[in-house]
Amino acid sequence: MSKTYEQSLDVSRPIRDWLIIGGALALGLLALYSMGFDQGFLLSLFQGHTSYQINMLHELIHDSRHIAAFPCH
Ligand SMILES: [Zn+2]
Repeated sequence: MSKTYEQSLDVSRPIRDWLIIGGALALGLLALYSMGFDQGFLLSLFQGHTSYQINMLHELIHDSRHIAAFPCH
């Protein structure tokens, strides 16, 4: 006798739950990495205090805003 659709869902449910948890964890770590990169925490080991003033992601988004012809200053 073959499994019903609900029985097959029960088998794959833990895998789906772990994929959701893993995806949320990966997105959280990516956000934390991006924030550390933007605020200069990651590069401060190599560049020292000047890395706190660079704000690379901010400048990247800001420049792409200018490229898209949105005036801001
Ligand atoms: Zn600007």
